[in-house]
Amino acid sequence: MKIAPANIQVIGSEVAIAWNDGTETYVPLEKLRLLCPCATCSGEPDAMGRVYKPKVSYNAATSFQMRTWGLVGGYAWQPTWQDGHSTGLYTFDYLRRMDSL
Ligand SMILES: [Zn+2]
Repeated sequence: MKIAPANIQVIGSEVAIAWNDGTETYVPLEKLRLLCPCATCSGEPDAMGRVYKPKVSYNAATSFQMRTWGLVGGYAWQPTWQDGHSTGLYTFDYLRRMDSL
């Protein structure tokens, strides 16, 4: 069975994910945003494979609030934050590992 979310809800300041294997993952929105995997937030490797983490500025009022979200191609979850940022694709594997990040 391929692991996928059976249900995703934003509850208060957390995202609650119920997986199709019966487990659950709870991730604070702020942590989710700080771990945004997009190139703008987490950097891209250069030709030598080194990754330089860019300096990212957040807006305390809007960067950690979620506007909406969607599922992408059956493998990832894509939130849109209140500050308009929406380029982060969180794969299901990545979300599953959030507890240990
Ligand atoms: Zn990002």
